Amino acid sequence: MRWVVRTPTLIVWSGVGISILVMMVAVALLYEGRLLVLARAADNQRNIAEVLDRDLELNFQLYEASLDAVVKLLARPDIEAMAPALRRELIFERAGASRYIGSLVVLDPEGNVAIDAQSEVPRPFNFADRDYFGVHRANPDAGLYVSGFLHSRLRNDAPTMVMSRRISRADGSFGGVVSLAVDIEYFRHLFDHIEVGRQGVILLLGKGGVILMRKPYDENVIGLTMAQRGRYESLPPGRDEYRIYPIRFMGRDSLMSRRFLSNAPLTLIIVTSSNETLAPWHKRVIEFGGLFLLLNAGFVLTSLLLAAQLRRRLRAERELSLLARTDGLTGLSNRRSLDKILATEWRRMRRAGHSLAVAFIDIDWFKRYNDTHRHQAGDAALAAVASAIGAALQRPSDAAGRYGGEEFIVVLPDTDAQGAQRVAEGIRLAVDRLDLDHASSDFGHVTVSIGVACRQPRAGESVDMLVKAADRALYRAKATGRNRVIVASEDDATAALAS
Ligand code: GH3
Ligand code: MG
Ligand code: MG
Repeated sequence: MRWVVRTPTLIVWSGVGISILVMMVAVALLYEGRLLVLARAADNQRNIAEVLDRDLELNFQLYEASLDAVVKLLARPDIEAMAPALRRELIFERAGASRYIGSLVVLDPEGNVAIDAQSEVPRPFNFADRDYFGVHRANPDAGLYVSGFLHSRLRNDAPTMVMSRRISRADGSFGGVVSLAVDIEYFRHLFDHIEVGRQGVILLLGKGGVILMRKPYDENVIGLTMAQRGRYESLPPGRDEYRIYPIRFMGRDSLMSRRFLSNAPLTLIIVTSSNETLAPWHKRVIEFGGLFLLLNAGFVLTSLLLAAQLRRRLRAERELSLLARTDGLTGLSNRRSLDKILATEWRRMRRAGHSLAVAFIDIDWFKRYNDTHRHQAGDAALAAVASAIGAALQRPSDAAGRYGGEEFIVVLPDTDAQGAQRVAEGIRLAVDRLDLDHASSDFGHVTVSIGVACRQPRAGESVDMLVKAADRALYRAKATGRNRVIVASEDDATAALAS
């Protein structure tokens, strides 16, 4: 029965528990979604780096091949013997395939433009002071040289970087330099097709960390080093090309990946804003999270309502069952309930091998009381006596009920005749002390007579016999003067058995 009482609380707690579990699952799913979004963003960044890296390397290979072709053709005596216009056309033919060549020139050993791919008449410039010239003059084995960031003399100070190769004469002496200036517009167009979001940045760094190109394009940044760009925070060191670095970049939490080109001193940096990457996820968190919260609140509210409803019903049931068991006038157990208690306790005492005692109580001269004091006063006296009887019981297993009219029975489990007599005497005294005025009684106030019987239940006997024995004892109490307790004798028991 106890679990039934606890059920409403159980409903509330399981409601809250299920709701917490559902929330936990939702949070786990959303978090997994976040990890997936970030993983996809990292993959995307890796792919972008791969595409750009491949395009740049391929183009630089073409530049290198163009330079090589020029050097090789210039070394051929038959070409050296050609008319200058034809020779120019032939040696630069190969370079036409490469994209974004800013300028392609052959410089003589003094650094003057000797043959110019862009102009039939060589433009009158000298490049003896450039590092890409000096390095070859000083060292026959410099191979392919790639300069840092420069402002082009041939193209109005346009930003550029130059690749160069040495021309050696047949005797091995310095014969000049072939130089190819890359039009950095190439990088700009390359980055144009790449999507890194509105807060994303792509950077191409040359020697010394000089910015050659930036997406979004900002011409004020070209030619500056990363260190000079104060608002960029330092990028982490390391050459792990497949790592995605979480960094603070321009004040934002970002993901960075980096590639170092194999055939040119170029570093490609791709930065995407984590916030921007996660924006769709944030939206989903708000939508789903809100929905989940709402549903859960509804769920908890429903279980609260259900629990309250159940609690009300249980209380009503308890009240009803109490009403069904009690006597309206006296508040003691009613006859039906009393019979049940008698039968139950009889069986219980029989199992335990203990004795059961009953006290049969009858108010003395109550008919006269009614006649003298009127029926309403009789009812009040009845209630007062009942309450005195109830108060006289001490053990939780003791029970009192209204047998009928002005007769009561007290059930005393696990009690012997002596004990029962003591309890009965207590009841008699308690009623006596109520001192309820009873003008037509010999005692002047309301009194009771009590018959007590006690027996250890045996097979084949019923509790009725015990009640009858008590009734016989009560009869003798009446017969011997009233306001007294009489304990049933063996004869009473035998007589009760016989009847
Ligand atoms: P005795 O001392 O021999 O018991 O005399 P008595 O008048 O009490 O005799 P008995 O027990 O036979 O009388 C029962 C009376 O109790 C009958 C009736 O007037 C009264 N009575 C029974 N039930 C009620 C009740 O619910 N209210 C009231 N006021 N009186 C009741
Ligand atoms: Mg009676
Ligand atoms: Mg009576």
